[in-house]
Amino acid sequence: MVATPIGNLADITARALAAFSVADVICAEDTRVTGHLLSAYGISAKLVSLREHNERAMAEQVIRWLGEDKIVVQVSDAGTPAVSDPGARLAEAVHHAGRRVCPIPGPSAVVAALSASGLSATSFLFHGFLPPKSGERRRVLAGWRNASFCVACYEAPHRLLDTLEDIVVELGPERRLMLARELTKTFETIRHLPAGEMRDWVASDSNQQRGEIVLIIDAAPPREEPEALDEQTLHTLAVLAAELP
Ligand code: SAM
Repeated sequence: MVATPIGNLADITARALAAFSVADVICAEDTRVTGHLLSAYGISAKLVSLREHNERAMAEQVIRWLGEDKIVVQVSDAGTPAVSDPGARLAEAVHHAGRRVCPIPGPSAVVAALSASGLSATSFLFHGFLPPKSGERRRVLAGWRNASFCVACYEAPHRLLDTLEDIVVELGPERRLMLARELTKTFETIRHLPAGEMRDWVASDSNQQRGEIVLIIDAAPPREEPEALDEQTLHTLAVLAAELP
């Protein structure tokens, strides 16, 4: 399982290039996208298509190749395979067949966004893509009203504004958000704003509704506990309460 750049081709790792060079077969989502990456590094390899719809069938083929001692690499179009991308079923089938699955780590949009966020990611939830329909999306968002951790989501550019509107409704206009757009690319944008201002900013600038987006919803602000009453006040309250009818 080999991670590939999420925009900037220079983010390829030395181990990824070594794996491509020795691979007998590279399974790719879109063979043209991976072909472009390989040609940038002067590597030619046998590319086959492995997508969601043929992942199970391809897994059987991959297991046959592994049985012939072939080296098979799985990549997605960008980032880490199996993270909101095909790859998990293949890895499961290969484990099940008693063969080794080796991760060759590298870029992933969610981790890149979190690393630049300045938010505490000691613990966080990665949700992948939010539901495309508003009703279902709002139900999911409502579950994070009091979250004590931040939540990272992938979002399609044409749904961003509707999602921000739903966040304002469900989590309030003050909930802190971070928008990470086009990471590692020319128009990389990282912006922190409360949800209401983020919605207005994205609505006013159509450029923000283009490209690839990670949205991070910060943890809910800690709830203010009522101040503990001192002993004298408690005593006074007890005396007064005793006088009540
Ligand atoms: N497996 C990939 C990974 O590890 O990052 C994610 C694949 S998912 C199908 C694609 C989504 O990742 C995009 O729609 C976007 O939300 C996010 N993404 C990918 N590249 C990005 C980038 N350069 N900047 C911001 N988000 C990105």
